[in-house]
Amino acid sequence: MTDKMLKFVNIDQQNPNKRKVNKRIDDFKEIYDEFIHDKAKEQSSRCSQCGVPFCQIHCPLHNNIPDWLKLSAEGRLQEASELAHSTNNMPEICGRICPQDRLCEGNCVIEKSGHGTVTIGSIEKYITDTAWEKNWIKPIKVIKEEDQSVGIIGAGPAGLACAEQLRKVGYKITIYDRYDRPGGLLIYGIPNFKLEKFVVERRTNLLKESGIEFQQNVDVGKNFTLEELQKNHDAILIATGVYKPREINLPGHNLKNIFPAMDFLTASNRKGLGDKVEDFDNGTLNAGGKNIIVIGGGDTAMDCVRTAVRQNAKSVKCIYRRDKENMPGSAREVHNAEEEGVEFIWLSSPKKFIGKEEVASVLIEKMKLDKEDSSGRKKPVSIPNSDFEIKADLVIKALGFDPEDLPKLFNNSNLAVSSWGTIKINLKSMETNIPGIFAAGDIVRGASLVVWAIRDGRDAAIEIQKYLELKKFKKVKAA
Ligand SMILES: Cc1cc2nc3c(=O)[nH]c(=O)nc-3n(C[C@H](O)[C@H](O)[C@H](O)COP(=O)(O)OP(=O)(O)OC[C@H]3O[C@@H](n4cnc5c(N)ncnc54)[C@H](O)[C@@H]3O)c2cc1C
Ligand code: SF4
Repeated sequence: MTDKMLKFVNIDQQNPNKRKVNKRIDDFKEIYDEFIHDKAKEQSSRCSQCGVPFCQIHCPLHNNIPDWLKLSAEGRLQEASELAHSTNNMPEICGRICPQDRLCEGNCVIEKSGHGTVTIGSIEKYITDTAWEKNWIKPIKVIKEEDQSVGIIGAGPAGLACAEQLRKVGYKITIYDRYDRPGGLLIYGIPNFKLEKFVVERRTNLLKESGIEFQQNVDVGKNFTLEELQKNHDAILIATGVYKPREINLPGHNLKNIFPAMDFLTASNRKGLGDKVEDFDNGTLNAGGKNIIVIGGGDTAMDCVRTAVRQNAKSVKCIYRRDKENMPGSAREVHNAEEEGVEFIWLSSPKKFIGKEEVASVLIEKMKLDKEDSSGRKKPVSIPNSDFEIKADLVIKALGFDPEDLPKLFNNSNLAVSSWGTIKINLKSMETNIPGIFAAGDIVRGASLVVWAIRDGRDAAIEIQKYLELKKFKKVKAA
């Protein structure tokens, strides 16, 4: 093994090249070039094949990382792809957008020893992109069709992962989604420069070819009640994500040209997909030529600032109330945004939106960090008489998301939710308080990550299968 692996002492860490800033801000394409075959092989060989692989432990899917790195170093890419798919429904998507610095790569033993982490995400992407290219990824061929069916509400990563797992064992699956395309935030939230849309579409097309039925433009609550779905299916999964934008009720918040992040990002993603988007075409949701202020410090804020740069904004500023070290967003994304010319105004918070009908400027106050609050993070407090004004033609609020009021939306007051509005489940069975209705993804966790949504979807599939088998058994016994 040492022949092929443990090369981290002699081979330096290398990621695929990042495209030059002046080139990449001219388009919405992904910013990393492809790994060439020999480079991926060489980088895989840096893995130290730890007895206790911390990368695997810290991957929410517990991917068999050391094993697929070894297979990749040996040039056995088809086997590496099969292994990657055995624990993950979308390895090429996770390889692109997981915050690896906080998960697998952040816990790589050779990173800890100062040699630089194995570039796990890029290799995972390389293995799976190659598998697509070589046509190794095929639709599911069901061996034995079951007569039971599952209705899944939400075609985001949680719903899609659950659907795929249950289809593999023969259940009939229908996914209902209020959007016109499947993919959830993969399609309308995350911008192309992180995740090009053909990558999502080839996955959802594969599921369609596998016999999963997609009913798009179906808003559960409006077009169907939960009870109606229950009558049509043997089990239900709620995987609706979290979409209610957090508001900022400051003076002037009703002025025109102040928008929630998802309005801005969805318009941009739709344009990229070739849709006609009136509010983009008439300039309302288009940053071109404007002074843009984005409020917030998470990944959504980073996606907004970098989208605005690509739309040729005159200036792009990010206002965040803590400092760089205490930002919730991925350090990698902040770095990319800085490289692309975004100006960060740390330790600052909006106090007032100023303008007649439309916003013209934002009054900002400086903040300092005080003692840690109950969440363990330092609390920002305002500095008196520190106000200053910044010109703004478009303000984007990226302050996070809360769940919609699902009991109200679904007209089912029995559905138990937490004080935050997330669905309460039995953490072992993933079942809600209503028998036969399960829940997974952001609607249970609150806004989280794609890799966690996939994990939840897979866990829910296991529990739904157990539920369906028991239901069938009881039916046979009673007959
Ligand atoms: C801008 C942005 C950038 C992000 N970037 C990253 C990133 O780089 N890396 C990362 O790991 N995570 C990222 N995330 C988080 C990640 O996208 C989510 O954690 C993940 O998509 C959650 O998956 P989900 O399946 O639970 O929900 P979603 O992806 O939100 O999917 C839910 C689906 O349910 C549908 N739905 C909702 N209500 C109904 C209803 N009543 N009837 C029918 N359908 C309904 C929606 O239309 C949607 O398609 C980002 C999030 C945002 C907002
Ligand atoms: S799924 Fe995410 S955390 Fe797991 S190995 Fe891949 S990139 Fe790392």
